[in-house]
Amino acid sequence: MRIVLLGAPGAGKGTQCKRIAAQYSLLHLSSGDILRQERAHGTQLGKKAQSYMDSGALVPDVLMVEMMVGAISNAVDSGFVLDGFPRTVNQAIKLDKALAHNQQKIDMVLNLKIDEVTVTRRMTGRRSCPKCGAVYHIENLKPNVEGICDNDGTRLVQRPDDALEVVANRFKTYFQQTEPVVDYYRENNTVYDIDASKAADKVTDLIFERLNAINLASKREN
Ligand code: AMP
Repeated sequence: MRIVLLGAPGAGKGTQCKRIAAQYSLLHLSSGDILRQERAHGTQLGKKAQSYMDSGALVPDVLMVEMMVGAISNAVDSGFVLDGFPRTVNQAIKLDKALAHNQQKIDMVLNLKIDEVTVTRRMTGRRSCPKCGAVYHIENLKPNVEGICDNDGTRLVQRPDDALEVVANRFKTYFQQTEPVVDYYRENNTVYDIDASKAADKVTDLIFERLNAINLASKREN
């Protein structure tokens, strides 16, 4: 199976992709994670990507396509689930071309649907402990003492990515550049919309139900 998972920032793509990959033995390819690894290793690509990532902008298509097509070539046998790529229509077209070159195509597109207000509240309310990494939320996962970690008493912080202006910027980028990717796939593939406003486990159930039904149907056809 070759799956693309789409969705707005904070829709839970990373969590769901990990679960899909584990359940169906697929390679999980997260463009954001790969870029962060490149940066951590100080590679040329990592250095080039740095300024774009820090400002909430997209890394140029040419770099992303080369990086992700290379990563996909390691998943010829296993299949894959793509997380964070493609993020522009141009990337989607280039991905289709690279797959077609090997007589392959994207089998399924899952679109995690969530409204901006829900996600903004989810992201901007998140607080974490810089010492132990525990994650809290100012509305629905409060620590015992406001602003203090239950585990070690450290003052909780907000991740720079979760600041209101950065979240707003990521949404702007998403609406301008990534939402058209959903329309691109609607023209060429079947896109399954999934309600991602529910709790993560419920969203996983909805995705697995969908994937199991499709698996079953394709087994019947063969
Ligand atoms: P993510 O962890 O998926 O939110 O990605 C973090 C950052 O990496 C994004 O804000 C972009 O700067 C960059 N990035 C990740 N995937 C892509 C992509 N497909 N195209 C361009 N930039 C990307």
